[in-house]
Amino acid sequence: MSKSLGNYMEIITARATDADVRSRSQDGGIVSAAFIYGIENGILDGSIVASAPDKHNPSPVVAITKEDILKARGTKYSISPNVALLKSAVREHGLEKVGFVGTPCQLVALRKAIKYPLGFRHVGDKVGLIIGIFCMENFNYQSMKILIEEYANVSMDDVLKTDIGKGKLWVYKKDGSEPITVPLKETHIFEQKSCHVCTDYTSELADFSTGSVGSPDGWSTVIIRTKRGKEFIDKMIADGKLETQPADLEGKGGIPLLEKLSNGKKEKSLDTIRIREENGLPVPKLL
Ligand SMILES: Cc1cc2nc3c(=O)[nH]c(=O)nc-3n(C[C@H](O)[C@H](O)[C@H](O)COP(=O)(O)OP(=O)(O)OC[C@H]3O[C@@H](n4cnc5c(N)ncnc54)[C@H](O)[C@@H]3O)c2cc1C
Repeated sequence: MSKSLGNYMEIITARATDADVRSRSQDGGIVSAAFIYGIENGILDGSIVASAPDKHNPSPVVAITKEDILKARGTKYSISPNVALLKSAVREHGLEKVGFVGTPCQLVALRKAIKYPLGFRHVGDKVGLIIGIFCMENFNYQSMKILIEEYANVSMDDVLKTDIGKGKLWVYKKDGSEPITVPLKETHIFEQKSCHVCTDYTSELADFSTGSVGSPDGWSTVIIRTKRGKEFIDKMIADGKLETQPADLEGKGGIPLLEKLSNGKKEKSLDTIRIREENGLPVPKLL
């Protein structure tokens, strides 16, 4: 347990052992490796992931094969309303054990829907695994398009991958040239306003959460929070699907950095919430 990272059982640094899974994943390929493992071992029938043919403007899809999951690898810095597809995944696609990946705000919605299943009966109990991704902020598609085309001067068609880290937005091109960067001080104005009242950086309501911060490049930090999450990760490790190393609990770029960023988001958003309340504006209600 840590005040800044929410409830958890264990933190590890990990990456998928399958180089093919890792090759186009955002960080250590934890999310894709987990969903593939779930399907191949009968733990999940399928998963809701965010697919975007152009790497941006994602929409949720029900992935039931390894290929579906691999197609949806990688972070899209735009909104993919994954919770909206859950009812259909159960009622139309007939999934009994659904994997779910989402941002912290989406997990609040999902946990609320499971706890108070108004219009959501017999759906919540079909959720077999909840993976949360770390998230400081998100953008709408038009904003991301402006940042990529006008600030980074890259055509959307040429983008291989985008990433946010080390104080910059990174735009990687398909031609393999050096990535173009945009300082985050120029991207802040484009952030979704709702992110500024969100106090969760590390997806505290997940079975396990993952992101790059706190681990070396190409590896992921994994915060294991529930018994279900721990059993799942332990099985993946035992079956050789994840390689691990102890999390860096002391180093400046390790878990202390994750805690610092998480605390920073909480403090900043609580300030914004207080100001909004003083002005009679609506603020989010957590569970
Ligand atoms: C908006 C946003 C902000 C982020 N900010 C941070 C941050 O500040 N620090 C940090 O360490 N990590 C951050 N992450 C998480 C990070 O970029 C990776 O998504 C995470 O480490 C998982 O990588 P992976 O290699 O394990 O996943 P992969 O194997 O690449 O799979 C990623 C999964 O996430 C799904 N996905 C992609 N985009 C979205 C989306 N917009 N909404 C819902 N699901 C999606 C994909 O469909 C795929 O299933 C952010 C992610 C997003 C979406």
